[in-house]
This record gives sequence, C-alpha cells and structure tokens, in this order.
Amino acid sequence: MTQPNATVNAPSVLVINSGSSTIKYQLFALASDTVLLKGLIDGVGHEQGSHHYQWLDGLGQRHENEVTLGQLDFDRGFTALTKVLSDIQATPTAIGHRVVHGGEQFSQATLIDETVVTAIEQLAILAPLHNPANAQGIRICLALFPALPQVAVFDTAFHLTMPDYAYRYPVPESWYQDYGVRRYGFHGTSHYYVAQQAATYLDKPLSELNLISLHLGNGASAAAIQQGQCIDTSMGFTPLEGLMMGTRSGDIDPALTLYIEQSANMTTDEVNETLNHHSGLKGISGESDMRKILQAKASGDKKSNLAVQMYCYRIKKYIGAYIAVLGSIDAILFTGGIGENSALIRQQSCDKMDTLGIKIDTKLNSKPVSVDVSAIHSASDSLPLLVIKTDEERQIAHQVGAESNIVW
Ligand code: ADP
Repeated sequence: MTQPNATVNAPSVLVINSGSSTIKYQLFALASDTVLLKGLIDGVGHEQGSHHYQWLDGLGQRHENEVTLGQLDFDRGFTALTKVLSDIQATPTAIGHRVVHGGEQFSQATLIDETVVTAIEQLAILAPLHNPANAQGIRICLALFPALPQVAVFDTAFHLTMPDYAYRYPVPESWYQDYGVRRYGFHGTSHYYVAQQAATYLDKPLSELNLISLHLGNGASAAAIQQGQCIDTSMGFTPLEGLMMGTRSGDIDPALTLYIEQSANMTTDEVNETLNHHSGLKGISGESDMRKILQAKASGDKKSNLAVQMYCYRIKKYIGAYIAVLGSIDAILFTGGIGENSALIRQQSCDKMDTLGIKIDTKLNSKPVSVDVSAIHSASDSLPLLVIKTDEERQIAHQVGAESNIVW
C-alpha cells in the first residue's frame, strides 16, 4: 500500500455529503481550486464497510487506497475520515455540508449553529430519507471539529426564487399552510453551478441570462432560469415529480396511485416504493442505467427503444414549456451523467425544434466531451446548446468560501 505523504498546508474546504449509507467527501484548496483528497465511505449501517480514497501528495502526484472497515456506523465512518486527514497532514479550514432539504427557511448557504442543525432535523418530515443522515453528519463534525466554521448548502435553496404561481399546487390552501405542500425543487447546487459556468463561457453576467438547465443523471430535473434566478423547476414537493428518471416515474396522473392501490391490492408504501425505485427507465426497459439501455436499444431491444423515446419526449416537453415561460432564452445546458455523455439523448431531446431556434450540430454533438463546457449547436442558426460538466462539491466549496468570511 502506498502511504499518504502529502503536506497539505493550503487553506481548504472539506465538503461532506453524508447520505443514508455512504459518506462522500472532498477536500478543496480554494485558492488553486484543486481537489486535494476525495473519498467514499460505503456501507454505513452494514456489517462491513469500505473506504476508498484518492489524494494529491506534496509533489502533485495522485495516490489511491482502499481499506475495509468492518461493521460501520456514522461515528466510525467519520473517524476513518479524520484518520486519513491526519495521515496526509491535512487540516481543513472550513467544512461544507450538502443538505437535501432546506424547506422555505434556507434560501442560501448558511453558517451552522445549533438552531440550524435543529431546523435541518425538523425538515426531515419533508425529506425523511436524506435530512436525518445529513444532520447526523453535521452533528458528528461539529463534535470532531468544534473550532471550524461549518456551512450547510441546500439542494433546494437555488429554487426558492420561484414565484408563488409556480411553486404552489392547485390544492386546498390549508395543504400549503399546514403541511408545507408546495414545489421545492432539488439539484439546485448543480443547476446553479452549470448556470455560472454558462455565464463564464458566454462572457455575460449570469444576471443577464435566461437559461434552461437540464440535469440528467440517475435523478433528473429541468430548471427555468430568468436573469440568473430560478423561476421554475420540474422536481416538486419531492424529487419524484418532473422528468422521467432512472427508477422514478416523474410526472404521472396523481389519480393513478389510488387506482393501482385498489386494483392491484397494493399498500400505499408499495406504490410509493414502486414509483420511486421500479419506475422510470427501469419500469419501461427493466434497466435503470442509461448506458446499458442504449446498448440494448442498439441491439434492437424494443423496450429499451421505447424507454429512450419516452425519456427524450418528456425532456422535449419541458424545454418547450420553459421556452414559453421564459419568453426568450440565451442557452440550453445539458449536465449530469446522461446530459454530459449521451449524444443520442441530447440529439433526440432537441429533435425537430428548429423553429424554436434549437439546432444541434451532429459533428460537435458526437465528440466526447473533454472540457468543462462545450458547445454542440449549429453556429449559424441555433441558440447556444452547451454540455457542461457539473461539480456539486466544487460549488459547495465555493459557497462555503463565500459564506465563512475566511480570506482565501
Ligand atoms: P447520479 O445522479 O447518481 O450522480 P450520474 O450523474 O453519474 O448519476 O448519472 C448516471 C447516469 O449517467 C447513468 O444512467 C449512466 O448510465 C449515465 N451515463 C454515464 N455515462 C454515460 C454514457 N457515456 N452514455 C450514456 N449514459 C451515460
């Protein structure tokens, strides 16, 4: 095993994504925008865990290591993380925590104190699978690093600029007032990051740009961005709404849930589980991974072909809707594993949209993406169509840098 040997003196932000069974982390030197250390602790809550990490040594060489951790809980996971920090002699200057749900309270990255952690815990009612794990990670880090500023960065925050006519559902007002039923939106950190990248690429302030951002990963969402601010997004009260996804249905008729519950004699939990984990691409083709679906489609598999058709058709409908909502647009952004890598999905989603000023250049589109931002539109007669690599951790690090009042 190669021993860690880096001396990491640069001021740095430790970005933590504490999920239900994993702890992902990255250490960024903000001044040079470099990732010094990156790791995945997997198997939290299981009999056996693993810890895979990569780091940059003082000579600029990358190393990696994988260790098994035995029975794993959050405390043991974070202890493993602090051991690696100590091994490579890295001392973070601040910590950023990814938090899935900030409700209506958190419209921006927020310095964490007891009131903030308690609020994140209380918001578990809106994000039962994510906020408890996020909050647990925060509590452990507050105990392990009491002297460091720690900042929560919320997936929902970017969307809080939506007007009420976009975020309210046409249901009784008491559902909103008493139970918080409204559109919140997710993937906000990614949409905001790629919007900023687009502004730099287009050499215009973000506040002057109207954009449609398409985050197409295992989860998928679209955002309509007007003069740099989100005015609508496809995910709603939960991440189940909107585009078709790997295993989530996206938009369906809400009456369908009651009908299938009664007709198929399913419980509410079973319907919920099916819509979240066995629908979307998986429900149609049997497979949730787009690479495998595209391979099966290429070999003539009809279900995979239908899944791709449905997936792109639904993206196209959102593009059309958001053009109508925004009035005029300056660019469409593709990001996430599918948006960044699949020429076919981009092509099919933008097919026959010439009259709306959307025309892909087939040659540019088919080139593998090697830079952070690449243009794939026909230069003469299309609005900019940009493929942008998302980097939520880097975005969190930048927001922590801005929020923690540290001179980097
Ligand atoms: P997550 O939402 O979990 O972060 P990603 O953004 O990494 O996921 O996206 C994962 C999806 O991207 C998977 O469906 C995967 O098959 C797809 N993907 C990755 N590379 C390619 C590729 N070259 N072509 C098509 N799809 C791809």
